[in-house]
Amino acid sequence: MALYAELHRHLGGSVVPRVLWRYFERHTSELISRFANYPEFEEFYTKPRNTLDEYLELHTLVESVQTVETLPYFIYRLLRGAYIFENLAYLELRYTPYLRTPEHLSQSERIDKMAEIVEVVGKASQLEEYPIVTSQILCMHSRLPYEVNKAIVDLAAQSKQYVCAVDIAGGDSHYAERLEEWLNLYDYACSLGINTTGHLYETTAGCYTELLPYLKRIGHGIQIPLLYPELLPELAQRGQCLEVCPTTYIKTGTLQDIRQLKLVFDRCFDAGVDIAICTDNAGLHNVRLPFEYENLLTYDIINFKQLQACQDAAFRHAFAWPHGERPASLLNELLKPEPPKVLAMRD
Ligand SMILES: [Zn+2]
Repeated sequence: MALYAELHRHLGGSVVPRVLWRYFERHTSELISRFANYPEFEEFYTKPRNTLDEYLELHTLVESVQTVETLPYFIYRLLRGAYIFENLAYLELRYTPYLRTPEHLSQSERIDKMAEIVEVVGKASQLEEYPIVTSQILCMHSRLPYEVNKAIVDLAAQSKQYVCAVDIAGGDSHYAERLEEWLNLYDYACSLGINTTGHLYETTAGCYTELLPYLKRIGHGIQIPLLYPELLPELAQRGQCLEVCPTTYIKTGTLQDIRQLKLVFDRCFDAGVDIAICTDNAGLHNVRLPFEYENLLTYDIINFKQLQACQDAAFRHAFAWPHGERPASLLNELLKPEPPKVLAMRD
């Protein structure tokens, strides 16, 4: 039996449209008053955007309702869906804790509130009825000042019980003007022994070779095999893994056709660079992890053997998977059919 590991999922984009709609209906109808009915809302919520920035704007809609009080409501539904429909055994959930704190507070008050958010998310993710190994990745954000991002790194270091890594998010074209800062922050994170990933090389405007040595995994990174394949041997040598999220590139206008990913997979397989297939924003896309897998097979981007290699890679590169093996190997013994009993011949 195959159980899966999801390495790249945003808390904000993980709310499926039906759950968000119900939440709005129950709590704050004014946000949905402009939609005549649910299908109209779903169409608005899941339709492709022209650019990554436009796409990221949608996150603010969900962030505004994900507060310390409501997070358990959304996380319960997220884990229930992941367990029932996606066969997840492992989930790394990422978000920017600062953006879940009350906006009316001062910057330092909001920084102080972040630890509570991490704890609430951590506790809400431990459900006896839907047991999935979970951990959090805290995202630094391109829109936030240095002090806040540094506090996010410090919080990751202090919360190892709940947090397995740090990330950078907010649109990869926006890092350029403060590149020194990001290098410092990643250097600082590494010095504290924190695992690292980063949204990089997602779009053609987000390619920063300087940041690559600091990362254990690369969020997206598809422009490396597409535009800079000469970097692949270095990635292989460092044991870095790409977190490839197929549906995202169509929703953000980064790729026009999902079949363009064939070159990404082919070049990575050839160079010995691992790929973990992920959803990024399963709710926003309304595409769950098994469908990402199936799509790649349907479009002949990868074959079954390669799919399994990617599924294995996801467990190998998981920052907080506590077992040596992926769950399939642990379950195979239990599930394999009993050998047929040999009937004794009688005369
Ligand atoms: Zn992402």
